[in-house]
Amino acid sequence: MSRYRTILIFGAPGSGKGTQGKILGKIPGFYHCACGDVFRSLDPASDLGAKFLEYSSKGLLVPDEITVELWHDAIRRTVEAGKFKPERDLLILDGIPRNVAQAELMERHIEVRRVFHLSCPDRDKLVARLKKRALRDNRLDDANEEVIRHRLSTYDSESKPMLGHYAGVKRHDIDASMTPLNVLHGILRGLLEEEALT
Ligand code: ADP
Repeated sequence: MSRYRTILIFGAPGSGKGTQGKILGKIPGFYHCACGDVFRSLDPASDLGAKFLEYSSKGLLVPDEITVELWHDAIRRTVEAGKFKPERDLLILDGIPRNVAQAELMERHIEVRRVFHLSCPDRDKLVARLKKRALRDNRLDDANEEVIRHRLSTYDSESKPMLGHYAGVKRHDIDASMTPLNVLHGILRGLLEEEALT
């Protein structure tokens, strides 16, 4: 089986990965998959759903093996359902892989063509966005500032080193504090470059 042609949207919680991923997923030829959405679609009463709540409510990452297995099952189902056509669509991943171990586990499934790093050194801006999201989307893991700060430090210690893992892949660093339209513009420029190469 060949690997899925993949674009990674990478960045801290609140950097706008989901906003951009959803927009891109509407364009024919792209399929968007957000790992957090896969977790949130689980029945909270199931073993896996309970595990997700246990970790996410503390601002922690769900263990790697479980996460990658769950993601792989979900993506396989979308292929079977004909929603994602790997021979036609570029896969846009947001929220996975989130650390080096996940990147290694996913190596046999995905061929990463480009990384879009939504960068926002202003942590207070991210915290403010997440608090707003907590009210809008009723997200438990965004509900208190301590959990938010924990997620941001998990991002610094576990997720950021992943950029080193993809050092050989073309990367675009985009200022995530810009408006969504400007961030989209930056991503589209990179995607057009990619399209011109294929
Ligand atoms: P955010 O980017 O704001 O953290 P997500 O919706 O992507 O929001 O993720 C919500 C929570 O789901 C995370 O805090 C984490 O507990 C869990 N999660 C999502 N993706 C992963 C992953 N790849 N590995 C481990 N845990 C994950």
